[in-house]
Order: sequence, then structure tokens, then C-alpha cells
Amino acid sequence: MDIIERLRGLIGPDHVLTGADCAPWASDWTGTYKGQPLAVLRPGSTAEVAAIMTLAHDTGTAVVPVSGNTGLTGATHAPGRLVLSVDRLRKLREIRPEARTAIVEAGVILSQVHNAVAEHGLVFPVTFGARGSAMVGGILSTNAGGSNVVRFGNTREQILGIEVVLPTGEILNLMSELRKDNSGFDLRDLFIGAEGTLGIITAAVLKLQPMPAAYATAMVAVPSLGDALALLNRLQSATGGAVEAFEYMPANYIERHLQVRAGARAPFAQMYDVNIMVEVAATAPRDATPNADGSLPIVDLLEQTLAEMMETGAVLDAVVARNEAQRTEMWARREDAGELSVSRHPVMLMDVAVPLDRVEPFLTRSNAAFHSIDPDGGMMVVAHLGDGNVHLTMWPSPEGMGRADSIVEQVEDVIAELGGSFSAEHGIGLSKRKTMARRKDAVALDVMRRIKGALDPAGIMNPGKVLP
Ligand SMILES: Cc1cc2nc3c(=O)[nH]c(=O)nc-3n(C[C@H](O)[C@H](O)[C@H](O)COP(=O)(O)OP(=O)(O)OC[C@H]3O[C@@H](n4cnc5c(N)ncnc54)[C@H](O)[C@@H]3O)c2cc1C
Repeated sequence: MDIIERLRGLIGPDHVLTGADCAPWASDWTGTYKGQPLAVLRPGSTAEVAAIMTLAHDTGTAVVPVSGNTGLTGATHAPGRLVLSVDRLRKLREIRPEARTAIVEAGVILSQVHNAVAEHGLVFPVTFGARGSAMVGGILSTNAGGSNVVRFGNTREQILGIEVVLPTGEILNLMSELRKDNSGFDLRDLFIGAEGTLGIITAAVLKLQPMPAAYATAMVAVPSLGDALALLNRLQSATGGAVEAFEYMPANYIERHLQVRAGARAPFAQMYDVNIMVEVAATAPRDATPNADGSLPIVDLLEQTLAEMMETGAVLDAVVARNEAQRTEMWARREDAGELSVSRHPVMLMDVAVPLDRVEPFLTRSNAAFHSIDPDGGMMVVAHLGDGNVHLTMWPSPEGMGRADSIVEQVEDVIAELGGSFSAEHGIGLSKRKTMARRKDAVALDVMRRIKGALDPAGIMNPGKVLP
């Protein structure tokens, strides 16, 4: 029997999409990778995912898992292939406020997780601009970062357990709710960040944190990135490590934002080169209870630190959010980064991590490397500076596009010399496979291939991604 008919038999004809119905899955978010899938499968349970994978394994049919399809590396590209979407696995199975855990299925959208746990005064501290579309399965599979990593770490640090359907169709139950469990190899962390090459994540146990009672949020202009780091370190000491976001937007980012986003406003009356959005969160009543004059201690602390640094010239200007609307405007400016990057084509995206004190040399040298090859090309930077994570957007000229590989290789050289990584939080997918081949330790690559071979002997799980 035709495989599509057999799949219809397994999960119901309504949940096997073909032809024009596959359109939402026929392009990635950036519009760089386009291709018509053979079919999109939308199973409604872990058992149905397992049935699909058993059939795929027995017939040697490739399967590409997808969640929200907001990834930025082409990792869900599936021309002529079966796409398995987890979007119908959308149960919030259980929230256990006392244990500070939530058990959710892979198709739950990140903002739904946020809203559901907020009702219990808790947060799941993974957040980024695509939170209205990205789903738990994709977030875990990319080990997503985002704007709270400076305080809480990447997604991997927020996960206690997972449920995975292996490429053979077996269900691997790792739904531990434990904070400590040294019973053998750490299989959970193998699947987190594997970009769907080792199995399909169907559910997870999330770690939750107390919801801050108050935030202090500001846009700050400083003379240099060195001064920005001094501000970060000083605030971390003053608040006991409560800085939740520390985001860098240079002048050309602010200018691009003003051009592209209707109604956008500049943060300051004059344009500065180095602009930081900082947010400090307070959970303790001593920091979050309003003073007699209505001011908040956490905001006072931020203002006092900024005022002291202004006196020494280490801060040039600052605007502190006075209400939620002003805070939202600051966040919106930062979270428009994705839209700004794809507001011009062709576009090349690099997602780099370097040690915090090497961000400045990285920016200077990568900018010089790019323009030495492509003097007419454009470059825009935005960074999760508190993590040393720089997003480079390059808009090459037609001549530069012809030398795209040389540009990437030159920037890779700078990354390597500064002890950095060519993939901080977005993963490898298709777009960084050549870089993997060039730059990843050969033994590490070999170990990855052996693991892949052991778990996916038929090579059907998101083939052609991650491993060169
Ligand atoms: C505007 C914007 C802002 C962004 N900001 C950030 C940011 O700050 N930090 C950050 O880290 N990322 C960011 N991203 C990238 C992206 O949103 C994240 O990588 C996100 O985690 C992807 O989730 P998704 O559900 O869309 O996954 P998808 O794009 O659907 O899939 C991503 C990868 O996971 C695999 N996969 C999907 N579901 C499963 C599953 N159930 N089991 C196994 N494998 C699976 C896919 O095959 C693919 O390899 C941003 C993207 C956009 C568009």
C-alpha cells in the first residue's frame, strides 16, 4: 500500500496533509529555505508518533520533525519528505506549583506556557521574540537561549525530564521530575539540542521559577562595551545576580529600527553608539515593596548605580521605564531584531558566542573582515551581551554574495582566534553544516556520528541536518 495511505490509516486522513495544505511548512521563517513536503503528518498522541516512526523505520522513510517552524538555520527544510508536526500535542498535562514544575506536551506554544504558569505566580524563564509561535518541542530541540540566559541559563538548564520517540518507534520515557538523578548516562541532554536528528520529543517536565514582584528596566548609553560590562558586573554585585536581561543595540540597529518599524521611537534625544537594555528583577519583598513616595527599591537601586556611573563618565545617558508601557516599548525594540534582519535580502545570519570581555574585539575584527571582502555590503549587530552572544546580520552586495563562503570563513577565523563558538543558540540545521565540517573538533564529530548511527541506524531522522 502507498505510504501515504498507510499513514492515513494510522492517524486518520484529516491529519495527513498533502499538496497546497502543506503551504505553512513549505518555507522556513526567514524565507531562505523553500520546498514542498511530500506530506505533513499531525499525530494527536505519543502513541501515534510511535506508530509513524515504526512505519518510517520499517520502510526506510525519512521524517523531519517540526514544532513552530521559527528556527533560523533551515533545520526543518523538507522538500519531498514527510514532515511530522507536533502541533496537536498541545496538552498542559499538569502544573505542580509546590514542586515548581510543569508537565507539558511538545506542541504547547511558549507564550501559552508563560500564561499558564503565571496564574500560579511562576515563570518558565525562557523567552525570546518568537515566543508566540515557537513550541516546547522546538525550543528543547534547539536548546534555545533568549534574553534570560544571563540569569537562568539556556533551555537545557530549565528541563527536568523528557519523553522521546526514537527513530525505531520505541518510546523512551525520561519524564523525571527529580533535581538529582545520577542513574547512568545523561540521555536527556543528548536529545536536547539535537535538532530532531536523534528522535522526536513529545513531552517535557519544565522547571519553574518564582515570578518577580517588580522589574527595573532601562535603556542606557555607555561610551564603550567595556563600560557596559562594568555596568553589568556592578549591577550583578548590587542585586545578588538579579540581572535578567542585558541586551546590546548599536546605533545602526536603532536607526534600522526607526526605518523599518512604523511608530518606533529612538531611546534618547541624541544617537549614541553603544545602547544597552538592562532589566533587573526583584522577588524579595524588601526590593519590590513600594516606598512611602511610591518608588520601588529595585528601581532606586538601578537609578543609584546609573547615577554613580554617570558621575565618572562610565554612563552617558539613561532612561528608566516608569510604567509597563515604557517597559514594553523597550522590549519591543529589542524583540524586533528578527524582523529587522529579514527586512533586507539577501541576508546572511551568524550567531556567535565569545567570552564576555572579547565581544568588542570580535565586533571590530568581524566588521573589518566582512568589509575587506564586501566594502558595499551592510552589517547589523544585536547581542545578548550578558551571555557574550552576538547576532551578526550581513546583507551582502551582489559581489559579496558571490563570495559568501569567504566572508563566513573569515569571520570563523576571528571566532576561533577569540576562543568562541560559531553557534551560540540557534543550532546548526543546514546553514552551518559547512562550518561544522571546517571548525568542529574531528573527534567530537566522529562521536556524534557514532551516536547518530546507534540511535538511527536507518538514517531516517531529519537526515542531512547538523552533521556534515
Ligand atoms: C523573531 C525570532 C526571534 C528569535 N529569537 C531567538 C532567541 O533569542 N534565542 C534563540 O535561541 N532562538 C531564537 N529564535 C530561533 C527560534 O525561535 C528558536 O530556535 C526556537 O527554539 C525554535 O522553536 P520552534 O518550535 O519554532 O522549532 P522549529 O523551527 O519547528 O524546529 C527547530 C528544530 O527542532 C526540531 N524539532 C522541532 N520539534 C521537534 C520535536 N518535537 N522533537 C525533535 N525535534 C524537533 C526541528 O527538526 C528543527 O531541527 C528566534 C526566531 C525568531 C523568528
